[in-house]
Amino acid sequence: MGERLKFEVGDIVKLKKPHPCGSREWKILRVGADFRLECLGCGHQVMMARPLVEKSARGLRKPGGDSPESEKKQP
Ligand SMILES: [Zn+2]
Repeated sequence: MGERLKFEVGDIVKLKKPHPCGSREWKILRVGADFRLECLGCGHQVMMARPLVEKSARGLRKPGGDSPESEKKQP
């Protein structure tokens, strides 16, 4: 197993297999035993079991995430 990704609502996950529309990137709308994902290419929504998402994921992008440490800052 590789590194564990921390999936959160609003994140963009990149899957191994492209959607028929050509996009590999999906926005996470819901997390749990099943994830709800929205294709960034065409807006199609799917439910996918968490283990399958973890297996197919090739990357995870946080929204507005050019400074990932900013969210850890204490006020
Ligand atoms: Zn699509």
